[in-house]
Amino acid sequence: MAYQSINPFSGEKGIVHETISGDELGGIIESCSEAQQNWKKRAVEERAGFAGSLAEILENRSDEYGRIITSEMGKPYTQAVAEVKKCALACRYYESGAAGFLRPEPRESSQGVTMLRYDPLGIVLAVMPWNFPFWQVIRCIVPALVSGNGVLLKHASNVPASALAIEEAVREAGFPEPLFRNLFVTHEQVSSIIEHRKVSSVSLTGSNIAGARIASAAGSAVKRCVLELGGSDPFIVFPDADIKSSVEGAITGRFQNNGQSCIATKRIYLHKDIFNEFSSLFVERVKSLKVGDPMDPEVYIGPVVNRSAAEELAEQVTKSVKMGARLLCGKGRPEEKGSLFSPTVLADVADDSPVATEETFGPVVPLFSFSDYNEVISRVNSSRFGLGASVWTGNSDLAMQAATDIESGTVTINGFTRSDPAVPFGGIKESGYGRELSDLGLYEFVNIKSVTHF
Ligand code: NAP
Repeated sequence: MAYQSINPFSGEKGIVHETISGDELGGIIESCSEAQQNWKKRAVEERAGFAGSLAEILENRSDEYGRIITSEMGKPYTQAVAEVKKCALACRYYESGAAGFLRPEPRESSQGVTMLRYDPLGIVLAVMPWNFPFWQVIRCIVPALVSGNGVLLKHASNVPASALAIEEAVREAGFPEPLFRNLFVTHEQVSSIIEHRKVSSVSLTGSNIAGARIASAAGSAVKRCVLELGGSDPFIVFPDADIKSSVEGAITGRFQNNGQSCIATKRIYLHKDIFNEFSSLFVERVKSLKVGDPMDPEVYIGPVVNRSAAEELAEQVTKSVKMGARLLCGKGRPEEKGSLFSPTVLADVADDSPVATEETFGPVVPLFSFSDYNEVISRVNSSRFGLGASVWTGNSDLAMQAATDIESGTVTINGFTRSDPAVPFGGIKESGYGRELSDLGLYEFVNIKSVTHF
């Protein structure tokens, strides 16, 4: 196995990086552990200061890093630059918040006063995906590092330049070496890292197949595990919603990042009274989206990550059409060559068709019609996923009822789902477990130790 990027638009191949040997890997884990032993003794404020330096590097180099992202995975360049800037925000959030989150806290009990300490775990393994090659990594590694841990990164094999750029930025920010290391390793080596006695936990963001493998390795080794997996987020529009805003929300929610986001809008449920109005406005907007070279500032949808991802998407559409779905726009298949995929909207979609039950990772979206509240909630909740959901209505009581009834980790009212450094992020059901971001994301990487002094 080797790590190499292939530009999804131009086909240009990057440098090949061979995986490291078992001996080299063993040495890296040992030296990371030694560095962590010193690191954990430093004051939280000092550790958090390095997150501030990292923010500065990310802000200053957002153009350069944006180009790496676009060339490796194909998202429009402006969105890639925005991704890097958002990483800087997350660094700043933990720079200013970590000392408060990690401050020992008294708890009164029948034993008198118990102090809660937030101590680091040791070494955290971060297994990360290509779809937000900077954001997914930064939001995981920064809280882990400022909490006093060492971190090993196993990034996706198609984004090695992003992985190396992040490693270099962390080093330049002043985090002591080798506290954070990027590893070019095989899947088998990932299991051996999880088993290693000096590695305490693993955080995976990725597909459900990878999640099941990582969780099983972590379970066998009795290691802590956070899983951020796939989703099929519903987007529900009630008849009293602001239709124009909901159309714009659905456009961004579904098509940004070339449709390859875990929290993308993947199933749109429209009340029957506004179905025609919404669908005609939506289709008109979708047809106006420019598809093409992701470096072109006018382009909103670049290629999906590779040809096989585009073909998988086409198969989901083809099977759904065979089950009765109708194309409102788009071809439902990639262009002759490469992995450009025209945005595709479907109507009359059966609830058990692939575009409804599986995760669609690209610019494809089904529109469903519903008649009443209980019906739509039950159809939304029939999904095996439970990551995010978006609800559009002018009635705040109805919105809060829906937020209570929908089975997901996040509910957004009158907006599309997006992540924020201060808001806990994660899913339920097959979308995974544990949380990232905010204080709760940081607590995934600490030992909450109760100290009672009689
Ligand atoms: P993926 O194929 O599961 O890969 C994710 C990471 O896991 C990569 O580093 C990959 O390495 C590694 N991996 C895969 N199988 C493995 C195994 N058996 N053992 C060890 N490591 C393994 O997912 P992806 O295609 O990159 O990412 C897309 C998926 O991520 C989508 O399902 C998306 O919804 C999900 N996602 C979830 C969130 C969230 O926060 N919930 C956020 C973003 C993305 P290789 O590249 O070497 O295979």
